[in-house]
Amino acid sequence: MKANNRLCPVCSSEKKAVLAPIEFTLFDGHPMNGGYDLVQCANCGFVFADTSVTQQQLDSYYTELSKYEDKTISTGGGYDQNDRDRLRDAALLLSSKIDDKGARMLDLGCANGGLLRELKNLGFENLVGIDPSSVCVEAARIATKCDVFQYSLFSIPKEIGKFDVVILSHVLEHVLDVGRAIDIIDNLLSDGGCVYLECPNAACYYQVIHAPLQEFNSEHINHFSELSFRNLMLVRGYEEVLVGDKVFKIASNQDYHAVYGIFRKCEGAIGQPIIFDHEISKAIQRYVQASNNMFTEISEQLEAMPEDVAIALYGVGQFSFKLLSMKTLKNRSNIKLFDNNKVNVGKVIRGAVVLHGDKLLEEYRKESFTVIISSLIHEAPIRRNIEIKFGELGYIPTIIGFSKVLESTD
Ligand SMILES: [Zn+2]
Repeated sequence: MKANNRLCPVCSSEKKAVLAPIEFTLFDGHPMNGGYDLVQCANCGFVFADTSVTQQQLDSYYTELSKYEDKTISTGGGYDQNDRDRLRDAALLLSSKIDDKGARMLDLGCANGGLLRELKNLGFENLVGIDPSSVCVEAARIATKCDVFQYSLFSIPKEIGKFDVVILSHVLEHVLDVGRAIDIIDNLLSDGGCVYLECPNAACYYQVIHAPLQEFNSEHINHFSELSFRNLMLVRGYEEVLVGDKVFKIASNQDYHAVYGIFRKCEGAIGQPIIFDHEISKAIQRYVQASNNMFTEISEQLEAMPEDVAIALYGVGQFSFKLLSMKTLKNRSNIKLFDNNKVNVGKVIRGAVVLHGDKLLEEYRKESFTVIISSLIHEAPIRRNIEIKFGELGYIPTIIGFSKVLESTD
């Protein structure tokens, strides 16, 4: 899996340095299983995942997966308050720079239409959405009454026409071929039109660590900063309208930093030279160092477990993917996996089927075992639930959790 073959998504240079190996164990069949090297471009300083996965492999994996998806929970159109605030902020930013309420605007990757709805509330009336998921398209149509089409970024037909504004909010961090994505946006924009970009801000990862190395995962493969947004767009002759950092709350109620940029297309303009992003090196180093310190503490806790004890790993997600690749868990065969999210139940990791958390009692009624809670947000309620259920049997298993590891490094 570790082929060092990805060009810099921002400047296309092939010169790069390895910052850290990122190891994770994903669902069986995932094309990115195993991990990748996190690298930094030697020409512009951009930080990205050096993976050999192709867009086609990723697309077909997700298409296959979505056949089994429980459509009632993944996308019901119900955004929580934090999400609504985040989308309203983005709409307000756009509205502060786009005066014409009749401007034709495209939200590329519109999900359930949350941002389209906020734009509509601000008076914009010429809105179009695109999303690769048929479930999202349907939900967005109902929620916004806008034109919403099912296309992937790379399959938008010419007939859709030109736009005054194209929005890519939390899309570019997922895209393998960023250059091609920007070419497509460029073709969609009318002369003088604006693109709005928003991604997680890599310059701020170290400020709030949600889990060690969490930002380097199987989904986020590009790590943008204010300067890398500029490098991406100004070199193509775009003009900077507004670039900055914004903070919003995520489901866990923690802060999350995003970098945003509005750039105007100027036909015939001369591109500006690339500037190396020195700041990002320091910021990423701090994040990797702090994360590795956490992993050291975590691994001390795991190594204290008896070698032959049965393990229940409770919580399936990016954090457990990393735990499963740690030395102490990598070669164990007596691990069972549990999760309360129906989307994950039934999926398979290293041959083990993910069971619902309710099955824990059934699986270990007569056996001594250790629970590793790999959900940081839900650790306390999961722990309480296990203590109550097994307490009734007169036996409480050893429970290992890591939320304190996270707190101690703040
Ligand atoms: Zn580069």
